[in-house]
Amino acid sequence: MIKFLPLGGADEIGASCFYLNISGTGILLDCGIDPKKEGVDGIPNFDQLSDLPLDFVFITHAHQDHIGSLPFLIQKFPHVIIYSTPQTKEIADITLHNAANILLENQTLENGMKIYTHEEIDLLVKSIRELEYDTFLPVKGLRHEGSEEIKILFKDAGHILGSAGILIEHSNHKIFYTGDINLTDQSVMIHADLKLVNKIDTLILETTYGATDSSKLGTWESELKRFAKSVNNILHKGGSVLIPVFALGKTQEMLASIHNLIQKRILTDTHIYTGGIGRDISKVYDANRYLTRRKTSELELKEIPQINLLEIQDYNEFKKNPGIVLASSGMMLQGTTSFKLLNYWLQQEHFAIYGVGYMDPQTPGYRIINSGKGDEIIVTEFGQPQKVKCNIDRFYFPSHSKREDLIKIVTVVKPSRVILVHGEPAAKNWVGQKILESAKHIKVNSAANNDWISL
Ligand SMILES: [Zn+2]
Ligand SMILES: [Zn+2]
Repeated sequence: MIKFLPLGGADEIGASCFYLNISGTGILLDCGIDPKKEGVDGIPNFDQLSDLPLDFVFITHAHQDHIGSLPFLIQKFPHVIIYSTPQTKEIADITLHNAANILLENQTLENGMKIYTHEEIDLLVKSIRELEYDTFLPVKGLRHEGSEEIKILFKDAGHILGSAGILIEHSNHKIFYTGDINLTDQSVMIHADLKLVNKIDTLILETTYGATDSSKLGTWESELKRFAKSVNNILHKGGSVLIPVFALGKTQEMLASIHNLIQKRILTDTHIYTGGIGRDISKVYDANRYLTRRKTSELELKEIPQINLLEIQDYNEFKKNPGIVLASSGMMLQGTTSFKLLNYWLQQEHFAIYGVGYMDPQTPGYRIINSGKGDEIIVTEFGQPQKVKCNIDRFYFPSHSKREDLIKIVTVVKPSRVILVHGEPAAKNWVGQKILESAKHIKVNSAANNDWISL
């Protein structure tokens, strides 16, 4: 008997956390946090677990929406055994400490949530067990019924360093959870590896780009050309370009992309500004360049000349030494480096802000990227209207599959049931509709938080 229960992230890109009860063994797939929400609203509904067996957590990758609630889970369930790829563990050591810093600064936690310390994170990260790609791991929970074990396999998901899709097999039932998955190459990462993933009974599928028309996304190569042309324009006028990026993934992909464009003389040679944990994560990318699948293993990110953004005191420096600024957070959340640069940038006529990744509609980044030169915008909920004097543009360098590729995954792995997660309702609708049109025998469920599905 297998039962599935989403505790978060079913209908949104938020606190991804999915519970599976497989013959009495309790498994969590991911344990994310929603950084847009405050306090308990941002963590998965762990209350649902109080009367259920819980033995293992498998983390697909180190983005906050997949790993950020682990410290809270461990406070409630200290006995649980956590697995990730070695790379995800290495990155988590950086990102979970960074999240602890932010939490200790804000201290906005309410009812039932305890702030965790750096010591607790040290212990937590140390306790994470490593599982390499393509190696079957047999597991059995404390209250497992029967003698047959559950087999777990991590597959490279092509999304960021260390990202995995998870194959779960138990007594003739095969489940594949995509995590965040990308079927196309980026500048550093290459497409997901779906070998061995076939004849699946249940596919748990992310749907991030389900509502996005793929013609808008273009191809990675065509977007690079358009991007280089626009950046050249700004640089030639003496302006600087601010690119809000996630510290994990997008920073490294953009850094490699910019470097390649400069090498090929498509982009003007210019200063590159980076800062914060993005630089530490780049070191993990470098250290693993021969250990994981890569576009080119030769490229070392640390060899690309970069100026430390956090050492810049006077923002007029960006006029004196124009360049490209890669600053996190990717959605320009309040208090982050990209948000701090924003006020200055908005007032500079020859400067530009370019969006390159996913932005949630409720974030400052989304409001800015959807505005244009000359518009009046309100950046934060209770802020004053501000005039946009700089240039604004949007480029697509997706680290998630475009929607046709989501359908391709279904075609390749041939599931009898698909459970849609990690997407807005409109995104899930498009994907669900397409699956039903292409194969009528496939059962499609739109997952909902706190609603059981029996498999
Ligand atoms: Zn992700
Ligand atoms: Zn995600």
